[in-house]
Amino acid sequence: MKKIIETINVKKYFPIKKGIFLKTVGHVKALESVNFSIHENQTIGVVGESGCGKSTLGRVLTKIYNPTEGTINYYDKDGEKYDISNKINKKTNMKYRSDLQMVFQNPFDSLDPRMTIGDIISEPLQIHKVFKTKSEEKDYVKDLLKKVGLYEDYFSRYPHEFSGGQRQRIAIARAIALKPRLIITDEPTSALDISVQSQVINLLKDIQKENNIAYIFISHNLDVVYHVSDRIMVMYLGNVVEEADSKELFESPMHPYTQALMKSVPGWNPRERKLSEISLEGEPPSPIAPPPGCPFHPRCKYKMDICSKEKPTIKNADHKVACHLFK
Ligand code: SF4
Repeated sequence: MKKIIETINVKKYFPIKKGIFLKTVGHVKALESVNFSIHENQTIGVVGESGCGKSTLGRVLTKIYNPTEGTINYYDKDGEKYDISNKINKKTNMKYRSDLQMVFQNPFDSLDPRMTIGDIISEPLQIHKVFKTKSEEKDYVKDLLKKVGLYEDYFSRYPHEFSGGQRQRIAIARAIALKPRLIITDEPTSALDISVQSQVINLLKDIQKENNIAYIFISHNLDVVYHVSDRIMVMYLGNVVEEADSKELFESPMHPYTQALMKSVPGWNPRERKLSEISLEGEPPSPIAPPPGCPFHPRCKYKMDICSKEKPTIKNADHKVACHLFK
């Protein structure tokens, strides 16, 4: 499968400014040296507690923010590589924006209440000048509505007339309008009733099967992430602490933080039980002043002398883990 995106040592720091001269007095270190890649038709789940950097990662990849350091490479359909870490030219930007789309957490905020459903879904098609005539565009949008399980006569209606689940289907129709190769979904079901969450997940999976779309699936819900992802990346305080195939990660989590997170999943039954007594206590430290060494050491039952002095680097090629317990 073709690679779509890779990140190399990507960092994102947000300055904290104070006083009348807005002097920078510190930084919120939201992302620390993130390295990963995603290929066509692959789903990577990104999990971690609130504030771990998973949503910032989504926003850096969609270019809402530029990274503070590091490189983001984007590969087009022909395998041509583009460094999109900073400002990019208009042509590359148009290409990237049609290949990558985002579905946000809250379908109540992400749809403009003044626009009809037809206009909301047509907007990216018009920006990218996909159709020559209005009637071709309208037929295509009506087909998209049917594809996401809605009626084509919703075309002229407004967002307030729909439930949360229906609005998320509209957001998905808009996201797939340009036939993207990668969709980033940030907590796509957490604002929805339990009863419609699985319908939206199933819709995303059906769309993937039909179109070979890759997903970066950001969520705090490990159970959902396990069921949709090929690989899972666990983040803690802006760092990737573990990454593996989802089955392998669930059956044999290595990092003490991952094990603690897993304990919240109903019916979790690890193959490796020796560390399964670990539990997650207290809050993560502030990303403004992260602890030295391993970022998890203030909460880790297994910490050793080295843990507060030296930051563990990622070990292993396939089941990656950043912890001094593993050499
Ligand atoms: Fe715990 Fe040390 Fe591993 Fe960090 S490096 S998770 S503190 S054992």
